[in-house]
Amino acid sequence: MADLSPPMPRAGVDYPKTSGQFRDWFGTEEACFGYLAGLRWPAGFVCSRCGGRDYWRTGAGLWMCRGCSRRTSVTAGTIFERTRTPLRTWFAAVWFVTAQKNGVSALGLQRVLGLNSYETAWAWMHKLRQATVRPEREMLSGLVEVDESFIGGVHRGMPGVGPDKISILVAAEHLDHNRIGRVRLEPGPIDRRLALVKFGQRVVAPGSTIRTDGARQLRRFADLGFQHEYFTQLGSDVPAHVNMPAVHMAASQLKRWINGTLHQGISREQLAYYLDEFTFRFNRRTAKSRGLLFYRLLQQATNTDPAPLKDLVIPHDSD
Ligand SMILES: [Zn+2]
Repeated sequence: MADLSPPMPRAGVDYPKTSGQFRDWFGTEEACFGYLAGLRWPAGFVCSRCGGRDYWRTGAGLWMCRGCSRRTSVTAGTIFERTRTPLRTWFAAVWFVTAQKNGVSALGLQRVLGLNSYETAWAWMHKLRQATVRPEREMLSGLVEVDESFIGGVHRGMPGVGPDKISILVAAEHLDHNRIGRVRLEPGPIDRRLALVKFGQRVVAPGSTIRTDGARQLRRFADLGFQHEYFTQLGSDVPAHVNMPAVHMAASQLKRWINGTLHQGISREQLAYYLDEFTFRFNRRTAKSRGLLFYRLLQQATNTDPAPLKDLVIPHDSD
């Protein structure tokens, strides 16, 4: 069978290899528009009305079809739609964000880009986090550990969980030699009955093996098209991280990342964004190239529905 997957992007050709190259490539708005167009139309411009491929560029970021004269903005339908900020600044933000091993705070972004307000920096961070979610994300497969973990001391007064604990649902691929593959994380819902079962069904491909603890309701996995392995903790002196090393590792890295990145409380609403960013970084942790992360994040940003600022929850007591 022919391999139909897109070719791997190449350093120095498809994405900048160094900071010097980054500056050389993206010095003008035109260059940034051109780069976005390449990500959006990898096989060349296609008119969404008539399918025509010939175009003129008629204005900043505008592609006009020669066949039917429809004008398409290269940023329409992306997180950059209707932005008043130069694309060069956005690109610099993405480049900066992808360099930070442990994620970046809104405050850091504000300083580096010289943004006037913390609120602006915060909104940018969240737009970029939104782009880290691939709409067509693949399901986990093989042997997948599924468990609930808790992070503490994050926010107060949430119903359904302890005063300082937030439930996180974690699924992690357990590879050979106890290596860990891809992960998925979601905030646990307030109604926790069957939350893990529904989560597993959402993120794990049917036919995979799901490993959990011995909770009775989790045995439903066996009836839902999965191989189910479970173990009981009761009377066992085997600690949880031996049976579920992948989930344990993902959860402990998440906690370290949150402690190192966030210096203020986060709400349940914001937590979903942070988990998406963590997942994006974790699943690409072996991608050594900063340029490749830059490419992937921009690629996803051009395939993301725009989030108007009013839809984002902005914290009141920002530092
Ligand atoms: Zn057309």
